Amino acid sequence: MALNASCLFCKIIKGEIPSYKVYETAKVYAFLDINPLAEGHTLIIPKYHGERTHDIPDEYLADVAPVAKKIALAFGAGSDDVEYNILQNNGTLAHQVVMHVHYHVIPKPTAESGLVIGWPQTAPSQDDLKAVHAKLIKNLEGSE
Ligand code: 5GP
Ligand code: ZN
Repeated sequence: MALNASCLFCKIIKGEIPSYKVYETAKVYAFLDINPLAEGHTLIIPKYHGERTHDIPDEYLADVAPVAKKIALAFGAGSDDVEYNILQNNGTLAHQVVMHVHYHVIPKPTAESGLVIGWPQTAPSQDDLKAVHAKLIKNLEGSE
């Protein structure tokens, strides 16, 4: 396992710091958030130390969505009135505090509890959207 001796979440994976384990696979570990935004708020972390999503090998990321789905179902997402958010912050400006990639699975019981976010939409022109689209497609082609 590619872990970092001084990282809080690596220590949780190794059991050096206690946590309320919810689920794990060979590639990810899921446990209760210590300061939940709502009851059941769970974190999923790859068993690989990296700061941001793009630092993590695909084989670890591949387990994240299936495990998030299991956790959501465990807190009742199969029922229409149970809503939730899946969130992942990359970088301090983007509200990341613990610098080991983690995916939040957060029940949204009411408007005031769970994840509360701003959504500062913009309204670019079609030309602006086309330019952004062309740039992304070009960079994606370069990354194959
Ligand atoms: P971030 O803002 O980095 O996306 O979120 C970090 C999350 O980790 C926070 O929701 C915080 O409550 C949680 N957290 C920080 N330290 C610990 C800890 O020692 N144990 C657990 N279980 N959660 C933690
Ligand atoms: Zn780590």
